[in-house]
Amino acid sequence: KLDEPGRLTKVYLHLDRLIENLKLLQQQVGERPLWPCIKANAYGHGAELVAHHLYRQGYKTFCVADVGEAIALLESGLEATFIVLSATLSEHIPALVRYRCEPVICTHDMIDELADEAERRGQRIAVHIKVDTGMGRVGIHPERLPEFVKHCRSRPALHLRGIMSHFACADETDKTFSYRQIEVFNAAITGTECGNSVIRHMANSAAIFDLPGAGFDICRPGIAIYGLRPSQDIINPAVERLKPVLEWKTRIVYLKEVTAGTGLSYGRTFITQRPSLIATVPVGYGDGFSRCLSNNVDLLIGGRRCPQVGRITMDMCMVDVTELRGAVEIGDEAVIIGEQGGLEISADELAEKLGTINYEIVTAISQRSPRIVV
Ligand code: PLP
Repeated sequence: KLDEPGRLTKVYLHLDRLIENLKLLQQQVGERPLWPCIKANAYGHGAELVAHHLYRQGYKTFCVADVGEAIALLESGLEATFIVLSATLSEHIPALVRYRCEPVICTHDMIDELADEAERRGQRIAVHIKVDTGMGRVGIHPERLPEFVKHCRSRPALHLRGIMSHFACADETDKTFSYRQIEVFNAAITGTECGNSVIRHMANSAAIFDLPGAGFDICRPGIAIYGLRPSQDIINPAVERLKPVLEWKTRIVYLKEVTAGTGLSYGRTFITQRPSLIATVPVGYGDGFSRCLSNNVDLLIGGRRCPQVGRITMDMCMVDVTELRGAVEIGDEAVIIGEQGGLEISADELAEKLGTINYEIVTAISQRSPRIVV
């Protein structure tokens, strides 16, 4: 039987860092509970491993994107509470109720359909009303909050547990719009008979670190629990203490000496300028290592930064290891994201090269890389 389905490219998880990052976040928010976001396979880290670890450490409520993510975790034996952040269609309401997920409400139809289904099953279901204070994605107009609260309260099968919103620009230096969102959220709640028992929640990682007054009752951090900064513009020394949870590593499967003038990979976009030692590593865009990084990214091998050369293919790519002649062998480790010999390649570095954000780099790491706890 093969070890981890015969894969050489793996994601290594430092789960201890997950807890350290959460402690750092907890220091920012005081007594407020945190509901970790483990959507999108825990930002690519592996939802099952992450969620079970967090549950053992006392985190009992998690944010997921849809009911499918919640079901997968519940069926893995996790007896947690799941807040389903995205809007839901009618066809998923029976599953939401059956699995006792806590959906986000943004339409009157949803209230009635959920309540009908819960009544049919003799259950009571907790819900959160989502107010759009400026994100423009899902959520009700703030002025309609009183009518939605009233409607929820008119259905005994529903328990209005929370009222929530989401920031559009909390990770930017200019906080004007974020403060405006807080004001709108506050005004909507103040103008509504909500009662003290309803939980107000709005803060993501950026708001936790850099937006006083955004904490409300509970916070929903995502990216920061994985040790990644929400952006480069966050002003809070605590973000410097976040530690990346994930490393992504592979191994050299082939080494060859080539003459000057040798073309490498599809399209021969790289032609060697000198006699070169070229390593082949089994990671490609099928693993989430973007083809757009071709000829513009390094891997760490033998404690050095070595340039990736030629197009990144689906399953493999090449690395120039000429500087390591005599000091590199087939089977050696190659780091795509992570540390080696005191050097580091971060998700931020890859994100910058691709003109994207670290969130996209880690969530793009495909299922093909087994997630291993170290
Ligand atoms: N809350 C909602 C509704 C979200 O969509 C997200 C992530 O996109 C988060 C919280 C967590 O955000 P972050 O990962 O920036 O902390």
